Amino acid sequence: MREFREWGHKLIDWVADYLDSPGAYPVLSGVQPNDIINALPPRGPDSGEPMEQIFADFERIILPGITHWNHPDFLAYFAITASPPAILAELLATALNANGILWKTSPAVTELEIVTVGWLRDWFGLPHDWFGMIHDTASTSTLHALAAARAYTVPELRDEGAPRNLIVYCSEQAHSSIEKGAMALGFGRKNVRKIGTDAEFRMRPELLAEQIVADRAAGLIPCCIVATVGTTSTTSIDPVPAIAAIANRENIWLHVDAAYAGSAAVVPEFHWLLDGVGLANSLVFNPHKWLLVPVDCSILYTRDRAALRQAFSLIPEYLETADSGLNLMDYGIPLGRRFRALKLWFVLRYYGRDGLADIIRKQVAMAREFYLRIEADARFEISAPSPLSVVCFRLRGSDEANRELLDRINGTRRFFVSHTVLNGKFVLHVAIGNLWTAQANIDELWRLVNSSI
Ligand code: PLP
Repeated sequence: MREFREWGHKLIDWVADYLDSPGAYPVLSGVQPNDIINALPPRGPDSGEPMEQIFADFERIILPGITHWNHPDFLAYFAITASPPAILAELLATALNANGILWKTSPAVTELEIVTVGWLRDWFGLPHDWFGMIHDTASTSTLHALAAARAYTVPELRDEGAPRNLIVYCSEQAHSSIEKGAMALGFGRKNVRKIGTDAEFRMRPELLAEQIVADRAAGLIPCCIVATVGTTSTTSIDPVPAIAAIANRENIWLHVDAAYAGSAAVVPEFHWLLDGVGLANSLVFNPHKWLLVPVDCSILYTRDRAALRQAFSLIPEYLETADSGLNLMDYGIPLGRRFRALKLWFVLRYYGRDGLADIIRKQVAMAREFYLRIEADARFEISAPSPLSVVCFRLRGSDEANRELLDRINGTRRFFVSHTVLNGKFVLHVAIGNLWTAQANIDELWRLVNSSI
C-alpha cells in the first residue's frame, strides 16, 4: 500500500493542478487518427511495469489525445463538468468496487440510489410515487422507456414477442437515441414517425394528433410518444402539456427526454420546463450533462414501475433472495450496477439545491449576454431562440463562410464550438455548461470570432 499511497497523493495533486490551470491545455486534441494506437505497443506487457513508466506514458501519449471536456473553453454539444466532490466520490466508489446486482450485494448502493433520485424527484416537483433509477446514458434510459412503453401496450410480448406494427412518435428535432432505441428493440425505423416542428423547432401537437388518427386507421398500434424538453440542436422545448393531453386521451405512453434541460428544473425560475411532465409516463434527465456529475449518470423516472418490471424482470435461481430489499436488476437490462449514486450524493450535498441553481442561473445569463451581442451585430443572424445555455447563430452568408468560421475557431484548439443544421443552413452552436466557464472565456471567444471573420 506504500506505493498506492504515494501515487495517490501525487495523482490528486496532478488532478488539482489540472483543474486549476486549464489554459495549459488546448481544448481540442491535435492528434491524427491512429496516432495513439501507433504510439502504443501492439502487444500487452508480459510482466508488470512501474507506475513511473505508466504515468510518464499517460502524460506523453494519452494526454495529447484528450479533448478536454472539463475545460472552460469547451463550448460544443452540451458542455459538462466533473466537479471536485464528484471526482473524489468516484475514487471512493472505485475503491469499494461495490456491485449492486442485488440489494444484498451492497445495500447502500441501492438505497443511496433510491434516496438521491428521490431528492431530485422532489426538487423537480414530480409526483412522490414516481420510481427512478440510474443508468449510464440517456440513450440507455430511453431504450428502457421504449421497452416499458411496449410492455404497457402489449403486456404479453414478454412471452410472445412483439407485433410488427407498433409506432413511436417524436419530433423531427428529437435526439437520434429515440430512433436507435426503436431500431434496437425491433420497432423498426420506418415505424418511427418524426412529427413536424414549428418556427421555434417545437413539436406541433396537431400534427401528432393527425398522425395518430392516420396510423390507427391503417391498423397500426401507437405505442410511445417522445417529447423533448431541450432538444440537442437548439434546446427547443416541446409543448408537453398539449402532447400529454393527446397521450392521455389516446392511452399512449409518453416519455419525456429532458437529458440536458432537466437539470435546469432545480432553478425555481425554470420549474416551468417540466410543466405537464407529471402527466407523462417516464422522464429521462442526465446529471452528467448539466448537474456537475461526471460521465456517466442518467436518471430514468417512471410512474409505471410495473411496466418496467414487466419488460425486464427475470430472476435466475442463483439470484433469488429472501430479503425485502429492492433489486434494481428487475427494472432494466444490466445486472451489474456501478455505485453512481455516490458521486450524485456528493454533488447534491456539497452544492445544495441553491448552489446548483446559482451555477445554472449564471450560465444561462452568460448565454443570454452572448445571444444579445450576436443579435446586435448586423454581420450575424440568430438561428433559434435561446431559452437556456445554448446559442445557435450564423454569419449572414453562405454555409461555406460559416464552415470556415467554425474551422478557424476550432483550428486554434483554444475553443471547441460545434455546429448543427437548421432549416437547411449550417449553424454554429455555442453551449455554456462547464462549471469553470466565466464571462472572460466568452469575451475571449467573441474576440476570436471577430478576428476570424
Ligand atoms: N437526448 C438529448 C436531448 C440529447 O441531447 C442527448 C445527447 O446529447 C441524448 C439524449 C443522448 O445522451 P447520452 O449521451 O447520455 O446517451
